[in-house]
Amino acid sequence: MAICTLCDKQDRKSHGTKPHEYLREQEERRIFGGAKKNGFTQQDYQCLQCRAKFTHSTDKNDFGWTLWQG
Ligand SMILES: [Zn+2]
Repeated sequence: MAICTLCDKQDRKSHGTKPHEYLREQEERRIFGGAKKNGFTQQDYQCLQCRAKFTHSTDKNDFGWTLWQG
């Protein structure tokens, strides 16, 4: 399934990048790691236009934005 232009641009953006205008938060933010400096969070998003799903992670070993279902 094709994803929209905005989602195409969002994929693999850095951690600080804001979700585009049609991305909406899904479910709860997931928090990993106990110690604050090692901890990170993940938040799922879905696009209202093309239904693509993203995960935004604050883990610096990951891409900030990962498209996992288009
Ligand atoms: Zn989209």
